[in-house]
Amino acid sequence: MEISAWIGDMRERKRQEWRAFRGAAYNEWGKPSGQEYPLFKSCCVKWLMDGPLNPDRFEFDEYTIRAGCDGCKQAHPKITLGFDPVSACTTATISHPLSRFVNYLGRLQDEGKAHQDMHNPAMYRIDGYLRPNLTSMRKGSGFKPHLISTSESSMEASDSAQRAELEAKPPAKKPRTEMSSAAKSDDPYNFDDDDDEFEAEMVAACVQVENRQKGEEFNRTGLESVLRLVGETMELKHDPLTLHVLRRTCKSAKIVAEELARQKLASLDLAVTPLVDGRYRAGEDNFHFYDSDNCSKVDENLHFVSYKKRESMKLSSATDGYFHPRNVAAATFSWDSGSLKRYEDDYNSWGEGYGTTGDGTEEDAYSGQKMRLSWHPRSTDLIKPSPRINMYEQVLPSLGVSLAEFHFGDCPNQGVATKTSSSGYIVAEYEVLESNTQEITEEEEQDDDGNVNGYDDDEEEEEKKVVTRDYIRYSGTIKINRVKVDFGVIVREYAFKVQNKMKGEHLEILKERPLTEAEKAYYRMLSKATGIRWAGDP
Ligand SMILES: [Zn+2]
Ligand SMILES: [Zn+2]
Repeated sequence: MEISAWIGDMRERKRQEWRAFRGAAYNEWGKPSGQEYPLFKSCCVKWLMDGPLNPDRFEFDEYTIRAGCDGCKQAHPKITLGFDPVSACTTATISHPLSRFVNYLGRLQDEGKAHQDMHNPAMYRIDGYLRPNLTSMRKGSGFKPHLISTSESSMEASDSAQRAELEAKPPAKKPRTEMSSAAKSDDPYNFDDDDDEFEAEMVAACVQVENRQKGEEFNRTGLESVLRLVGETMELKHDPLTLHVLRRTCKSAKIVAEELARQKLASLDLAVTPLVDGRYRAGEDNFHFYDSDNCSKVDENLHFVSYKKRESMKLSSATDGYFHPRNVAAATFSWDSGSLKRYEDDYNSWGEGYGTTGDGTEEDAYSGQKMRLSWHPRSTDLIKPSPRINMYEQVLPSLGVSLAEFHFGDCPNQGVATKTSSSGYIVAEYEVLESNTQEITEEEEQDDDGNVNGYDDDEEEEEKKVVTRDYIRYSGTIKINRVKVDFGVIVREYAFKVQNKMKGEHLEILKERPLTEAEKAYYRMLSKATGIRWAGDP
C-alpha cells in the first residue's frame, strides 16, 4: 500500500471513530438543539464523556479518543457541591447551564429537596450536609464522578457541623479528646502491677458515685460484687475486648476485669507443637508436599522450611499463673539432622525434585528446631481459626490460632533458658538437656577421569583418586517446662477481628456522615491493641 493511501485510510478510520464518539455523546447528553447548540459546541466532549485524561487508558491504547481530556481551551462543565454554614445546607452550583444539569436539579426542586437561589440561578440549595448529599448525588444522578466535584475545605466545614450535631444528640455527652486508655492499652496483663492510670472521665464519674455514697460509708467491695455479678451474668469472660476496656475504667472495675480475665485465661485450650530438623525446600516440586501443619509460611518463590513434627502437648493452667505440659513424656522431644553435606559436590545435581535445597548446601539449608503455641478456641469464642484445606480441597484438621513461635536454632546451648515471643505476650521456659554438633569426614574413591563406562582401554589400569567429604550432624533433646501467656495476646486476637469488621462499617458510615469522636477513639483502641494501622485510619 502506498503511503498516501495508508494516510487516507487512517484519516477515514479516525473520522469514523469521532463519528461514533459524537454519537455516544449525543446519546448520553441528548442531541443539542436551539439555544443549547452553541453552548454544547463550546464544551469539551472528551471531558463530558470521560473526564480528565486517564493515563492508564492512554497507556493501554495511545490512539484512543476515550482516554479523557489532557487539557484544552474548551469548557469543562461540572456541578460543584459546597456547604453553606449559615443555613447548614449543601449548595450545588452549575458551571454551564447544560440541560442535563438543569433538568436534574429541577427534578430535585420538584421533589422539594432543592431550591434555586433567587439571586444566583446557577446555584441550588439542598437540605442536609455535604457528605450524604454527595453520596446520593453520585448514586442517583447518573453523572460520571468527574462531573460532581467538591473541595476539601467545604467537606471539612460540613463534617465539623455534622459532627457537632451528632455529639450533641445524646444528652450531655461531651466530645472527648484522646482516650488515655488507648495510649496504655498494649501493656501486658501481669495482674500484679499497680498502675492507676484510668481514664480521667471514668474516674471522675466513679468519684462522684463514691462521694454520694460517703454518708452511708462507701464500701468498695460492694461495688466490686455488683460488677462481678454483672460480669458473670453477661459472660464477660468470653468478651476479652470488653474486659480490656473495663480494666481501665476504675479500680473496682480493674479488679473484677482481671479476675474474669484470669478465669478466661485458665480455661484456654492451648497446645505446643515441636517442629524439628527444619530444612529449606526450594524447587517447585516441593510445593506439592506442602502442609501448614509442619511447614513454615511459603515465600514469594513457593519456597518454605519443612520440619519433622513431634507429638503435640496440651497445656493445662496451674495456680502459679503458668501453663504446664499435661503429658510429661511429650514435653521432652529430640532431634537428629543426620549427616548434612557441608559443601556442594559434582555428585549432586541440584534438580527440582523433592528435598532440593536451592543454591545452598545441606548444611546451609538446615533450619533447626522450633515450637508453635496454638490456641484452640471453643464454641463460645468469637474467634474461629481459619479453615485448612489441602490442594485437593479436602478439609484438614484445624491447627487453631497460632499465638507464637519460638525458634531454638541448629544447636541451642545446653541448660535452662527462657524465650519471649516477638509480641512480648508469651514466655516459654525450657531446658536443653542435650545438644550435640558432630563433624564427620569420610574418604571416598572417585574415578579420576570421570569415566564411568570404562569402554576406553581395557588394558590400562583405571586410576582412582581418594576424595574427602565433610558432613555435619546436629542432635539433641529439649524439655518444655512451662509457658506464661498474657491475656493481652487474646485481646489482640479479638481486637484484630473487630478492627477488620469496624473498618468496613466505617467506610459505610463515611458515605453519610463523619465519624464521631467516640467511634474514632474505639477504633484507635483497637489499632493500638493489634498494632495494625491502615491508610486513612482515624
Ligand atoms: Zn478539554
Ligand atoms: Zn467505678
